[in-house]
Amino acid sequence: MQTLITTIFFIFGSILGSFYNVVIYRLPRKESVVFGSSHCPNCNTPIKPYDLIPILSYFILKGKCRNCKAAFSFRYALIEFVTGGLFALTYHIFGYSWLTFIGILLASVLIIITAIDIDTMEIYDTFQVILLFIAIAYIPQSGLPIGDHLIGFFIISIPFYIIALLTNGMGGGDIKLIAMGGLLLGWKATLVAFFIASITGGIVAILLVLLKQQGRKSLIAFGPYLCLGIYIAFIYGNSIFDWYIRLFS
Ligand SMILES: [Zn+2]
Repeated sequence: MQTLITTIFFIFGSILGSFYNVVIYRLPRKESVVFGSSHCPNCNTPIKPYDLIPILSYFILKGKCRNCKAAFSFRYALIEFVTGGLFALTYHIFGYSWLTFIGILLASVLIIITAIDIDTMEIYDTFQVILLFIAIAYIPQSGLPIGDHLIGFFIISIPFYIIALLTNGMGGGDIKLIAMGGLLLGWKATLVAFFIASITGGIVAILLVLLKQQGRKSLIAFGPYLCLGIYIAFIYGNSIFDWYIRLFS
């Protein structure tokens, strides 16, 4: 039964993921995300409903438009898969609970922020506001004192803000993102989110230097790593923090 529901969460996530692909593609182009059916960006042919099966359609069509054979980005299938995977993981961890609902909302917003940040180097305020509402919905259920959440809001965002003032090297979007993420997570899990973001971002930056790909600036945007850190910290943050502290006590 548990496996069946987890599978349903995966399928549900992958279907929503294909809608997130539409949002990710259209928002930066100022197109309506509600109106207008999906069409091939190359030949404009509307995509048939039977070619819109999440993940599978990409492989059935071998990543090409049925009409003009233009290549579709593999990222569409990847985002559907990741959304499905995170929905299934969230349900697997939290079961039938409010936290699952919060977790899949959070995963959804973070996936959209990540993809748009990679494409445009921008994080839209709309998504920061949505994160704020998710945090407010979550705080009464988090089991943490409200003070932990308020400290979480400031604990990384203030240092980021100071770095931004001193170096211009830190985007306003990243500062707001870790403020909203921190409010949601509480300060301990926020530190965990920050460390995960720094380590993964650092590893990718080193790989880019080694592979002589530094020109690919989009991969150096910090937002995606913060998103990864925030989600992992939402799932495991407080236990990672406690484990880390025990190492030194
Ligand atoms: Zn086409």
